[in-house]
Amino acid sequence: MELVVEDAVFVTMAADGGPSGLGGAMLVRDGRIAAVGPAAAVRAAAAPGARVVRLDGATVVPGLIDAHCHVADVGYLAASADCSQPSAPDIPAVQARLREAAGRTPPGSWVTGSGYVEYKLREGRHPTRADLDQAVPDRPAVLYHTSLHACVLNTAALAEAGFAERQPDPPDGAFGRDRDGRLDGVVFERPMFALFERNLRADLARMDAGARTRLVQVAGQRLAAFGLTAACDADMRRASLAAFADADAAGLLGLRIYGLVVHDQVDWLLASGLRGRRSGRLAAEAVKIWADGGMSSRTAAIHGSYPVPPYGSGILYFEREELTEMVGDFDARGFQVAIHAQGDRAIETVLDAYAAVLGGEPGGAGGAGNPLRHRIEHGGAMYPPLAARAAALGIVLVSQPGFLSTLGDGFAEAFGDRSDQLYSFGSWQRAGITVAGSSDAPVITADPRLGLRDAMLRRTGGGRVLGPAERLTAREALALYTTRAAFAARREDEIGSLAPGKRADFVVLDANPLDADPEHIPGIGVLATVLGGRPVHDSGGVLDGG
Ligand SMILES: [Zn+2]
Repeated sequence: MELVVEDAVFVTMAADGGPSGLGGAMLVRDGRIAAVGPAAAVRAAAAPGARVVRLDGATVVPGLIDAHCHVADVGYLAASADCSQPSAPDIPAVQARLREAAGRTPPGSWVTGSGYVEYKLREGRHPTRADLDQAVPDRPAVLYHTSLHACVLNTAALAEAGFAERQPDPPDGAFGRDRDGRLDGVVFERPMFALFERNLRADLARMDAGARTRLVQVAGQRLAAFGLTAACDADMRRASLAAFADADAAGLLGLRIYGLVVHDQVDWLLASGLRGRRSGRLAAEAVKIWADGGMSSRTAAIHGSYPVPPYGSGILYFEREELTEMVGDFDARGFQVAIHAQGDRAIETVLDAYAAVLGGEPGGAGGAGNPLRHRIEHGGAMYPPLAARAAALGIVLVSQPGFLSTLGDGFAEAFGDRSDQLYSFGSWQRAGITVAGSSDAPVITADPRLGLRDAMLRRTGGGRVLGPAERLTAREALALYTTRAAFAARREDEIGSLAPGKRADFVVLDANPLDADPEHIPGIGVLATVLGGRPVHDSGGVLDGG
């Protein structure tokens, strides 16, 4: 069956610019784009009897790609209590949400809430175990910070996690404490990751295959409603990869998933036979490593120290030599490596490791380039000298413009004078780095329209513009989520632009983001999302029209 889409504005993002303006059309055949261009030529190329859909002047853009998203976590946390701000403005509201969640959480599972940011709560602090005990006194409850670098446990959860009242801080992590030194329920970094992973794994294990597939489906539906047709899952593990594989086999995977497999699961991955391109919709060819903590939890490893709690200089997970050895090992086995690095101290360490493995130093010769496209994830404090090194090494950067409006005021508090140089998309592009866009959802919403606006405006929630010189144009911003994200996922031959031969992944919007007032981009309607020629989201039946 062939499909002709016409009477639309096509924003192809193709290298040659492609057709633009009304009067264009696109022919879809066997899940791929067969032609895109002037309507008469496209119609002439179509077989007799091809279905024709007229879009009444809507805009068609390539399927959007989120180059760093915790897709399985989006599905998992979709079922938890929404404790984000402003939806839950204070601790009593958080408690009410948790109480409500307790009523629908199956026995054995922890009552789970997510999405809070302590400095956005009216009280301006993390909730404590006592706050959670009031809401859920008799069974374990956990409240995840939006960064997923911190959480709060009630007393029952602390006990079940095996955290003793006065135990010292673990390596690469910390516990919040009351005035007497007893645990106040807040857990930072490594023990928090272990808890999240444990709970996710336990809850996935408790689900039958149908429930696991539904979790993946819910995540896919949420992302498709935002116009996303592909995502790199930045935290792929055994249980989640199995869930994606099941959904894929059942034909229920509603977006293309490129897995960044957590480094300590690579041996399992190799033994499982799931490495590589499993299908057009599922691949696992990259390895994820965390070099430091998060920006919004103030645990990113920086030079100097934070002027705000928890103070300190952040947490660096690996020394240079250890990281170099890991990168060298994965590189030798043909994996693309993607390293989470937020603070300048962590980014420097990661660049040292990449330089040692790739053999190219800035200004020097002898480097073989970066054929596997090793990446840095986030790069928040990648200041100009670091950006120059990354550009010289050919490192791909995957970052999150949407942090600026959602978490930017907290960055400004933590980074003071340097906050204008955070997430410096303009400087990075001028330095020659390939930068891809992403959300890091569920840390913030996966909605790429927010990222498009923030890449252009850079305005925080409080109304401050961080680094006006770092703003991107509309076309540059859209490239983050199309051509650049496709490159970061090594799929630019298949997705990221509308061109003959590529997969027919596209989005129908009710306005053209390249012409819109950036202020209004988050309000642009996603009328339909199409994956491989088939709708995965169709809000108004626009694709039914003839
Ligand atoms: Zn992430």
